[in-house]
Amino acid sequence: MSDCIFCRIARGDIPAKKVIENDRFVVFHDISPLYKVHLLIVPKRHIASVNEVDAASGDALAGIFDIAREAAGKVGVAGNGYRLTVNTGRDAGQVVHHFHMHLLAGESLRPL
Ligand code: 5GP
Ligand code: ZN
Repeated sequence: MSDCIFCRIARGDIPAKKVIENDRFVVFHDISPLYKVHLLIVPKRHIASVNEVDAASGDALAGIFDIAREAAGKVGVAGNGYRLTVNTGRDAGQVVHHFHMHLLAGESLRPL
């Protein structure tokens, strides 16, 4: 989608502090981190949220945990641990309507 902020980052139209990029995913630092390490794992294909995931978009998400693990290793938090979070819809606080997974780490996280 042309006006979607994460599509624009995926296309390279606007800059981001990228950690990993391949043909299907881009991982970059959140612009307003809530934790010492706060990454966003974003499929390049536009999927609005988990509610829009179907068999076709499922392919675009295949391997997302491999990317998450690789990103955690790259920023040095694989050993101490990290939390993966996906906000879906208004009550969860989703503000960017392009599916993404948060990787939160770098400090002790409050129990859920
Ligand atoms: P959501 O609440 O939708 O799950 O999370 C969206 C996240 O995207 C927020 O944590 C917000 O700080 C981050 N974000 C929004 N716009 C940008 C941007 O232009 N660049 C980066 N790096 N992060 C962004
Ligand atoms: Zn998008």
